[in-house]
Amino acid sequence: MAKRGMLIVLSGPSGVGKGTVRKEIFSQPGNNFHYSVSMTTRDMRPGEVDGKDYYFVSKEEFEQQIKDDQMLEYAKYVDNYYGTPLKYVNQMLDSGKDVFLEIEVKGAMQVRKKAPDGLFIFLTPPDLMELRQRIINRGTDDIETINKRMEKAVDEIEMMQNYDYAVVNDVVEEAAEKIKTIIRAERWRVKRFLPDYKKQLGDFK
Ligand code: 5GP
Repeated sequence: MAKRGMLIVLSGPSGVGKGTVRKEIFSQPGNNFHYSVSMTTRDMRPGEVDGKDYYFVSKEEFEQQIKDDQMLEYAKYVDNYYGTPLKYVNQMLDSGKDVFLEIEVKGAMQVRKKAPDGLFIFLTPPDLMELRQRIINRGTDDIETINKRMEKAVDEIEMMQNYDYAVVNDVVEEAAEKIKTIIRAERWRVKRFLPDYKKQLGDFK
């Protein structure tokens, strides 16, 4: 049986640029981890593709998935559901492949409980004024939504203490590089490496 893959969780406050950093990471060849496409009930934004950016579903479909225990985690975020379909993640991990999630903090905490062995990386803004500006610049939200997202962001930054690593998103390419470095190093952590050796040692004893 293949060694179970590693679950990598990139999280952080709204507007910090998780999506941009994730796209930067996956635009480069040679990653040996796989992106799990999330499911959401929010409307598709211009340029987004169903099945690539998200699986866009109705509220009823999403709630059915929850009832059927098909979500690894989910959260209601600014009046919409977002969640990680369980099946893809399990299939990949079971076949020894590493899986990368990009999710908000409430979902990340659910994953932390279910998969404490995962790697949890917190993407954080250089400062809060800049975060607000980024949400405004995105131009996709009205002022009420921007304010809601900011209030949430302040609470979310306090969640940093629950993560293994923090990466400041000042320059996207640099943040992406740092995250890849963390993932590379994490594979050689003794707790991930030792089980293989233990088995070999056992075989020789
Ligand atoms: P957006 O609407 O800007 O695409 O995403 C809003 C927030 O939902 C972002 O913080 C994004 O990281 C988060 N998100 C995306 N997919 C998931 C998911 O599967 N689960 C959870 N909990 N959050 C998600």
